[in-house]
Amino acid sequence: MANPVLPSSGVLSPLGLDSVRLLPGFWGDRAALNREVTIAHCQEWEEREGWIGNFRGERPRRGREFSDSEIYKLLEAMAWADHPGLPALAQTVAQAQEGDGYLNTRWSGSRYTDFEWGHELYCYGHLIQAGVARLRMHGEDQLTRVAVRAADHVCRRFMEGTETCGHPVIEMALVELYRVTGAERYLEMARRFVERRGLPALADIPFGRAYYQDDQPVRQAQVFRGHVVRALYLASGVVDVAVETGDQELLKAVEFQWERTVARRTHLTGGMGSRHADESYGEDWELPPDRAYNETCASIASIMLAHRLLLATGDVRYADLAERTLYNMLATGVALDGRSFFYANPLQVRVPAVPLEGVNHAAEGGLRSPWFDVSCCPNNIARTLASLPAYVAGAARDGIVIHHLTPSEIRHDGLAVRVETGYPWTGSVSVRVLEDGQGRIGLRVPAWATDATLAHVPVSSQDAPLPDGPVVRPVNPGYAYVEGPWRAGDEIRLELPMRPRWTFPDRRIDALRGSAAVERGPLVYCAESVADEPPLGDLTARVDPPVEHPAGDGADGVVELEVAASIGSGGNGGWPYGPAGAHGGGADVRLRLVPYHRWGNRGPATMRVWLPTI
Ligand SMILES: [Zn+2]
Repeated sequence: MANPVLPSSGVLSPLGLDSVRLLPGFWGDRAALNREVTIAHCQEWEEREGWIGNFRGERPRRGREFSDSEIYKLLEAMAWADHPGLPALAQTVAQAQEGDGYLNTRWSGSRYTDFEWGHELYCYGHLIQAGVARLRMHGEDQLTRVAVRAADHVCRRFMEGTETCGHPVIEMALVELYRVTGAERYLEMARRFVERRGLPALADIPFGRAYYQDDQPVRQAQVFRGHVVRALYLASGVVDVAVETGDQELLKAVEFQWERTVARRTHLTGGMGSRHADESYGEDWELPPDRAYNETCASIASIMLAHRLLLATGDVRYADLAERTLYNMLATGVALDGRSFFYANPLQVRVPAVPLEGVNHAAEGGLRSPWFDVSCCPNNIARTLASLPAYVAGAARDGIVIHHLTPSEIRHDGLAVRVETGYPWTGSVSVRVLEDGQGRIGLRVPAWATDATLAHVPVSSQDAPLPDGPVVRPVNPGYAYVEGPWRAGDEIRLELPMRPRWTFPDRRIDALRGSAAVERGPLVYCAESVADEPPLGDLTARVDPPVEHPAGDGADGVVELEVAASIGSGGNGGWPYGPAGAHGGGADVRLRLVPYHRWGNRGPATMRVWLPTI
């Protein structure tokens, strides 16, 4: 079973790369671009920056203390993509492993002297995830042996004691290695790392121990806090430990924390993180659009966590958040040519960026960069897109459920279907049965699709005149099921309403009060201003006239929208405050909106998702 996550129990089982194949379409095209362009792009930059040379012993060592992990994320991407470059890169990595399994190009010779910032266990976590991917896609080889030796070293060194790593990820990696090998020491090691956290296990630092979730035990926490990627990687590992040990209390703790975090600490795009200094969540309702951090890796971590909670509980809300995050964060993180990336993903950019050819030394930019000093995001995108089929559908006891409506072929337990759709540009989805079979087929109707319809069209009735044709029935958000048995050629047709809609923020989100945003289907839209287009700093949108489609859709069926707005100065001169009604005015315009994930592909631009309405 070729899956990044394969729990031994749960309401749903994942269907892996051996069951789900993406076809050309929104995600299939991105996965193909990833395989053909992005993976090689990452390898070229890791070679150029010396991070691969570190494993060959080239000196001076180059890159940050955690740069080994980028090579491991890339190896995981290569494993899922069955990339021919994997064995040679694995050979390079293997030559740096020490006799007892220790492997780190930064800390060799002074090992385990800095648990707060050293990232040694973090690097192992990514190495082990790459090894698990290779084991499941290919079977044992040099990479998997390196990963297992490192994991065994970790178990020997850390099974007793109180130490853990400042950056989680080893926890979920060890559980997955347990799942694929059956060796219980890996699960026990993961469980101990989870339980040690918050006792506390790490030193206090200027950001506070909440930065690395060491301020309180995970069972007592009420919300995700601190560094977002750390928080979500830890929570993913906690779910894995809870599922494998049958610890319902632990699972419930994460569900509770997720619920409050989604309700109070999540941006409209699904992005998480409001503070740049420590890449952290910030407080409840602290969701500023221009200062949003929303690291691309945080969105990937959120998708990983939502996937685990979905498998454990079957609760559709996890798939809904995953969809929001996939279309508005993962898709935004990489340029349409697959060669540049966003690290931070704010919802407003006030000043057009200056194009950058080389390495971006900051996380910010306003334009996608080909590479970063800290290049977690490009490699994380690569491994996620390479394993994306595993997130599309799941198996229940009595059939399959399709979480993400994207062109694909799904085969499981005698059921075989092909999903055809122009989603997210159109709301028409066809699921065609390819072979005679049994079992029910479930389709996720997204939470925003409040008047969707579904029709079961047996092959025998497809040429029948009305009124003997298919019965069309309304379906509510959630999973809509159609029962078998099936004959080859049977079809399920789902129609989702794709009217654009205005979305308003909770009044407690101070930074957004008086604003509104436009969504259509799963997509968040934004205003974008390039070159000599009118700037976006002084505009007011009107929410009473309907959002319109301008004539014709763009390339590849891309849908752009228009709203009524006024642009121009309404200020009162030298002081930006005054009595009610002192500000406003400006010239009426039609404001063009583009899908947020496409912004920044036309050169330097300003952008905003939230539009002032008063
Ligand atoms: Zn990142």
